[in-house]
This record gives sequence, C-alpha cells and structure tokens, in this order.
Amino acid sequence: MPRLEEGIVRKAAGSPKLGEVEQRMAEFHRRLKERGLKSTGQRDDIARVFFELGRHISAEELYAEVKKVNPHVGYATIYRTLRLLKECDLLYERHFDEGQARYEVAGDHHHDHFICERCGRIIEFENEAIEELQQTVARELGVTLAHHKMELYGLCAECRARPAR
Ligand SMILES: [Zn+2]
Ligand SMILES: [Zn+2]
Repeated sequence: MPRLEEGIVRKAAGSPKLGEVEQRMAEFHRRLKERGLKSTGQRDDIARVFFELGRHISAEELYAEVKKVNPHVGYATIYRTLRLLKECDLLYERHFDEGQARYEVAGDHHHDHFICERCGRIIEFENEAIEELQQTVARELGVTLAHHKMELYGLCAECRARPAR
C-alpha cells in the first residue's frame, strides 16, 4: 500500500522548527563521540532525514526518503543507524498493533496515539484527565510510574465518513 504509507508520513511530519534539526544533529554527534564513534556521511544523511521527517516513520519509508538524498545508503545501514539513534536516546520505537516498528524523534512533549484500523492513520493526542487518572491509579496501587503507553484503535473520522469497500 505505497499510497497509504506516503499519506502517513505526510500527515505525521510536523515541520520541525528552524534550527531544531541542527540542534538534534549536534546532539547526535555529541552522543556518538561519547560512545567513541565517529559520524559518517551516511549516518548523518540518515539522521538528518529522520529528524526532518519527524514522526512514526517505518524503516522502509525512511529508506525510500534517504535514497532521494543519498542513493548509496543501504538498508542495513538504515537499520544500524536507527538502532544507534535509539541507543543515543534520540528516537522512540513504537509497535502499534503488532505492525512493523515505527520510529519517532524522542524528546518531544509526551503524547499518546490513536491508530485507524482501516487506513493506518496515526493521530497524536494529549489528555490531561487521562494523565492524571494514571497517577490516581498509581497512588491506589502504591506504585510509581516510569512511563506508559496509551494506544487507542478504531476508525478515524475520514474512514467513518466513507463506506467500507
Ligand atoms: Zn482511517
Ligand atoms: Zn507519536
């Protein structure tokens, strides 16, 4: 479903603020150095495209986008760089509904996800009441929360308005 995947990327790609990509690249280089690793042209191309695109991209989608910038980059390098970005805490890996892994830039504000089961659209949301309710549950259980995953599944507004094929 190439058309659909494209739609997800377009929808998900919030345009990063001016300088944000550069800041993230600098942070990436700093953390690579801490690990005794060098930045390479290919790694940089992949990281830059990832930071520019933003959210919920699959490895295949990233691969297709990176190819436009640097046709020499192989799929294995994409995977290795994604793993590296994750180790550097610059990337979140998401697994929605046992689908393929999707990646988004870490360090943004916390948000949860709605996933349309028909078209695959991913909608981000924040709800203060839900966040607070989780703290209430934690208090009742006598536990402390480190993080959580809230994923809602169903039909998006556009799919609701369209009869099923
Ligand atoms: Zn939909
Ligand atoms: Zn997200």
